[in-house]
Amino acid sequence: MPLSPTELAKLLELLAQTQNHELNCEQCLALVAEFAESQLAGQSVAANLQAVQQHLAVCGECREEYEALREALISMRENGPDE
Ligand SMILES: [Zn+2]
Repeated sequence: MPLSPTELAKLLELLAQTQNHELNCEQCLALVAEFAESQLAGQSVAANLQAVQQHLAVCGECREEYEALREALISMRENGPDE
């Protein structure tokens, strides 16, 4: 069954939105520290970091980077509680 013009428009809109929010690995890694810190601080995901979250969900390499950073941040906190 072919898509109606309305459905097609919706689909294109969705695709456009996805592309707007999609980061490449370089962009993701530029923001991943900020993302990790806000996650550890228990903050809700800021608008500019939602794309990072999305990228991490689909990119294993960046997710590994994120996990490593997260571990590092956690151990830094444990070693130096200066709040
Ligand atoms: Zn990536």
